[in-house]
Amino acid sequence: MNQICKLHIKQEILDKVKRQVILCQDGSLFIPQYPGGIDYSKCTGCGKCVEVCPQGCIKLEEVDGKLVAIFSNWELCIGDGICKIICPENAFL
Ligand code: SF4
Ligand code: SF4
Repeated sequence: MNQICKLHIKQEILDKVKRQVILCQDGSLFIPQYPGGIDYSKCTGCGKCVEVCPQGCIKLEEVDGKLVAIFSNWELCIGDGICKIICPENAFL
């Protein structure tokens, strides 16, 4: 089993997106925290990231007999980083 699920997007697009800084209405800066993938060797399939994602980007799926989180709607990700914060196994890259 491939232990690390990389997002299927071109690296140059990911790098460009990661450099984005958004100026909020209150003058503060928002730096998106896009996840770079999920380490299946760490993921326990607890589903917490699925519950908290406001965009429905993550779902649970069985991979090689193990229930793990996978990205299903990456294009909807807003980079709030909640999935990375909530994961008790630090499985997000
Ligand atoms: S919160 Fe972490 S351990 Fe739980 S399903 Fe998501 S990636 Fe896996
Ligand atoms: S960064 Fe936010 S929108 Fe993107 S996958 Fe994680 S929780 Fe969902």
